Amino acid sequence: MQLITPLAINRRFILRIPTLGADGMALFPFILVRQPNPGPTLLNHERIHLRQQAEMGILPFYLWYVLEYGVRRFQYRDRYTAYRNISFEREAYANDRNLTYLKNRRFWAFWPYIFKNV
Ligand SMILES: [Zn+2]
Repeated sequence: MQLITPLAINRRFILRIPTLGADGMALFPFILVRQPNPGPTLLNHERIHLRQQAEMGILPFYLWYVLEYGVRRFQYRDRYTAYRNISFEREAYANDRNLTYLKNRRFWAFWPYIFKNV
């Protein structure tokens, strides 16, 4: 099963929030960005999160995200390292420079990243 996320996201779904606490954030179906001209890697990173959210459901995604952050926080004892090791982030950071990644991405491709940083 594969859900289709357009590789080129419609600009109307990119919302600029100058006070955003991060460079970017995916809030299905929107990508929130802080800067006026977000680069392709950042947009691709957030598109990977949109795909993850579309697959799991938005609420389960965020519940899992927060729970896994808690586990990683206990594991790594450091906020940033915990964030970077959430399986969704591992998948997104490992593949965000590959702009065609979503074209051939498998369903629930974040799963192996739970167990190791592949
Ligand atoms: Zn991310």
